[in-house]
Amino acid sequence: MLQILKVKTNSRSEFIDITKQVQDVISSSEFKKGICQVYITHTTAGVTINENADPNVKLDIIRTLEKTIPWQNNYSHLEGNSAAHIKASIMGFSVTIPIENAKLLLGTWQCIYFCEFDGPRSRNVIVNLIGN
Ligand code: ZN
Repeated sequence: MLQILKVKTNSRSEFIDITKQVQDVISSSEFKKGICQVYITHTTAGVTINENADPNVKLDIIRTLEKTIPWQNNYSHLEGNSAAHIKASIMGFSVTIPIENAKLLLGTWQCIYFCEFDGPRSRNVIVNLIGN
């Protein structure tokens, strides 16, 4: 089963917690057990799993990426957004999470972050449920 979520981002670099939207796809289906693949169909946005309890964790990740990969750095890519492409590749374009009893098996402090690096934009996130 495959469903596309829409994510609206509001700034150039931003992490958006999409855990509830992904869980809602599972909860509104008959799906009970298997694997949930969350896949990003973009080249300047990614996805990761990390802590959602302290919002400073995502801020620290964003700030470290900004510092490590500055927006201006004599890049060759003429579109001018190489930093966003690099950050997206570092974060990656998919995560997989086990599902048991129709629930994502995330740890207590874990959430799924959509990682915007060239916003604001309207983005698509594919939720692919494998199993039954
Ligand atoms: Zn580009």
